[in-house]
Parts: sequence; C-alpha cells; structure tokens
Amino acid sequence: MSIFDLTIAAAAKKLAAKDLSAVELTTAYNKAVAALNPRLNAYITATPDLALEQAKAADARIAAGTATALTGIPIAMKDLFCTAGVRTTAASRILEPFIPPYESTVSAKLRDAGAVVLGKANLDEFAMGSSNITSAYGPVENPWKRNGSDAKLVPGGSSGGSAAAVAARIALAATGTDTGGSIRQPAAFTGLAGIKPTYGRCSRYGIVAFASSLDQAGPMARNVEDCAILLNAMAGFDDKDSTSAPREVPNFTAALSRGVKGLKIGIPAEYRLEGTNPDILALWDKGIAWLREQGAEIIDISLPHTKYGLPVYYIVAPAEASSNLARYDGVRFGLRVEGEDLIDMYERTRAAGFGSEVKRRIMIGTYVLSHGYYDAYYLKAQKVRNLILKDFTDAFTKVDAILTPTAPSAAFGLGEKMDDPVTMYLNDVFTVPASLAGVPAMSVPAGLSADGLPLGLQVIGKHFDEETVFAVSAAIENAAGFSALPEVRAK
Ligand code: GLN
Repeated sequence: MSIFDLTIAAAAKKLAAKDLSAVELTTAYNKAVAALNPRLNAYITATPDLALEQAKAADARIAAGTATALTGIPIAMKDLFCTAGVRTTAASRILEPFIPPYESTVSAKLRDAGAVVLGKANLDEFAMGSSNITSAYGPVENPWKRNGSDAKLVPGGSSGGSAAAVAARIALAATGTDTGGSIRQPAAFTGLAGIKPTYGRCSRYGIVAFASSLDQAGPMARNVEDCAILLNAMAGFDDKDSTSAPREVPNFTAALSRGVKGLKIGIPAEYRLEGTNPDILALWDKGIAWLREQGAEIIDISLPHTKYGLPVYYIVAPAEASSNLARYDGVRFGLRVEGEDLIDMYERTRAAGFGSEVKRRIMIGTYVLSHGYYDAYYLKAQKVRNLILKDFTDAFTKVDAILTPTAPSAAFGLGEKMDDPVTMYLNDVFTVPASLAGVPAMSVPAGLSADGLPLGLQVIGKHFDEETVFAVSAAIENAAGFSALPEVRAK
C-alpha cells in the first residue's frame, strides 16, 4: 500500500505506532506537490520548508506523548485563511503582496493540533465562483478525466484548489470555505467528502470576507471520518468573531457509528429539477434506497421557496461583498497603483487589482444597496431569505435530515459554461438554500456518472446538528462503497 492511500485516521495510527514519522509523510507529500502542482495548479503558494519544520515538531510531540489526531497530518490551507508570515492572496491580484501579521482562528486551531501545512490552495478570486476559473493565479485542473477523454475539467469552486489537491493526493486533507456551496460542490466534482457546518460553528476571524452572513469554514477530505476529525479541531466559540456560536463542540467522530435506524429522512420535491443530469437523479434514488435499507424512514417533504434560493443568494452575497471589498483601496492592504489624486489612486488600484467576476459582483452589490433600489432588491431578498429559513425549520419538525443531490451536473470542461454568468450561477442551485438558512450540509461521494466522473449526495441537517449529518453521511458512504480514484494522482 502506498503512503498516499492513507486516510487521516490510518496515518495517525501509523504515526502513533512509530511505523511512520511525520517527517517521512510530509517529505513524501512535499515531493508529490513539487511533481504534480505545476500541472494541476492546486496551490498558489507551496510552503515545503515550513511544512518540514512543522513535521519535525510533530515528531517531537508524538515522541513526548502529547499528539492529537491531527499531529503530523499534512494538509492544504485554502488561500483565504490568513496565515501569519505566509502570503495570503484570496486568489486576487489586489492581495498579491499581502503577508498577514496574524493567523486566522481556524488555521491556528489546526496548527495547535499539530497539523502540517503544505501550502496555500488556489480558489476562485475572493471565493466568487464555481469552477476556480476566476483565480488571478490561473485555473485549477481537476485530476479526474471523463472515460476515454483527455479534456481538462474544472474541479468546481470556489475551493477548487483544496479539492484538486486532496483528490490528486498532494494533500491528505484540506480546509475550505463555503458561502453558497464552495466546499460541497468541489467535493462532489472530485470524489471527496466535505461539510459546511452550521453558520457560527467555526470562527470567521482571519478568513478574508466574501459575504459575512453566509461564509463558513469547513473540512474537505477523502472520507466522512476524516472530515469529522478535522471539524473536531476547527470548530468552537471564538470571541474574535461576533457571529461565532457559544456552543459546546460535540465529538463528531463519535456520531459516525450511530446509524440511521429510526431516523426520518426528508426528500424535497423541489430538488427534482429539470435539466439535472439523469445519472444524478438515479443516484439520488439509490441513496434513498440505501438509507431505507438501513432502517431510516423516508418522508416526502416540500421546501416551497427553493426556487428563490439563487436569486436571493445573488442579491445578498454581492451586497455583502461590495461592502466587504470596499477596504481594498490601495491604502491598507496589498496592491496600490498611484494616481493623480486620492480618488484616482483608488480607482486605478481597484481597476488593476480586481478581476471581472469580482467587479461584476461589486457592481451588482452596489446597485442593490443603492438608494431607491435597496427596498426593491436587498430588503426583499432579506425577507425571502427568511421564508427559505422557515421552509427548513418547518421541514425539520417532521424530519431529522434531508437528502438531495449536491450539484446538478458532474465536473464540466474548462471553458464550458463561461459564456454567461447566470449559467455558472445555476451550479449552486442545490447548495445555496442551506447556506441562506445557515444549516449544516455535507457532500458525500456516492457514485460515478456514465462517463466516469464522481457524483455527490448532499445531507442537510438541523442547526448545530452536524452529528446527525455525519451519521447519515457515514451510512451513505458505507452503502456506496465509493473507491474510484482520479487518473492524475500521487502514487
Ligand atoms: N459559487 C458560489 C458563488 O459564486 C458560491 C461560492 C462560495 O461558496 N464561496 O458565489
């Protein structure tokens, strides 16, 4: 068995038994990054020397008997988490020279647990996108290929670098962030598990802000158990984030073996959308059957405002983004392009620093917040967002969790769906409702499309009930027995 076949749980056992050292594991991953990253472009910045230093410290900690489940585990950090002393770009030109003087809470928690950071993973610029093509540092290639085709596919987005790195085994696991699907959709496109926890479960402190009422950090990994191990370390109250929830963090790993016997699983009629790949609808039916066979009760439910999810999201998210991105003015962070006066300097800096998708969102956001349109768009969207939340709270009086597909298609080709932004936005149709409602949702790899690409099923849970999400996801994972591997990977 290759060192790259190890999951976090398996690697931790070997590390504890001294069958493997953290330095050996990290050295193997550093080499794999050097070999495959030039092709995949999954990392914007690789940090092999820092990783090796951390691995040495991890070995010392293992020897001293103070290791955690993550000590010595090499991971990729989405380049949206501020890392002290290590460049953090958010995949934007405007932050190209930015070296944060401080560490995000989530990355600090992982560092304190002893995780080794191999580098900063590529993403869509400011996490705006579903294909990783908006990165100022170039697109990421999905390590998966369609059967009999060499065409380059996207890894999904915005956490596309994290997804490609873990799938191609140039990271054992990764962090992601999810505002409208950016953990779940790329996980589905690359055959990984990934969970967006309840809004407020993980601190947003030190994560470059996109849409603050939606942004959540979460793990992406080879399987459901590895996600639970990571989330155990990433979650928890933080007084540096005013929306962080003062809640105990349960042991997510313990929930994996609960089973689904007696659980009520809702199947929302509104997610049976026309235009969805038929392989995905067939897989959804399989997922329903797997849960029923394991003793769950399947209940048809309705989430009547689902069709407003995308329009509401594409008002609320750009509105918040336009406000959050006002801080990039050439004075405080990153890029500065001198001009004739202050206003001219602002304009030149922002014109040069932001890519076209980011500019589009700033314009939409500014428009929907402007005098005379605020009530018609932003306020209306806020009201409908409440109705979407109510759909979920109503449904959760009848069911314990909800099962849907993660995305309406498998990974698509680099260059496809680019003609018009709305086609790209349709990718998020199954993921944005849970984001708007703030409920936890996980994508589990559950099968392959007819042309050999991974497909995911999404499990949505009640606020702060990630444990049920993990239990249902583990049940699907066990039944699916997904073991396919991408063509491009470290061996
Ligand atoms: N694809 C969605 C967007 O473009 C979601 C992105 C995200 O979750 N960060 O906004």
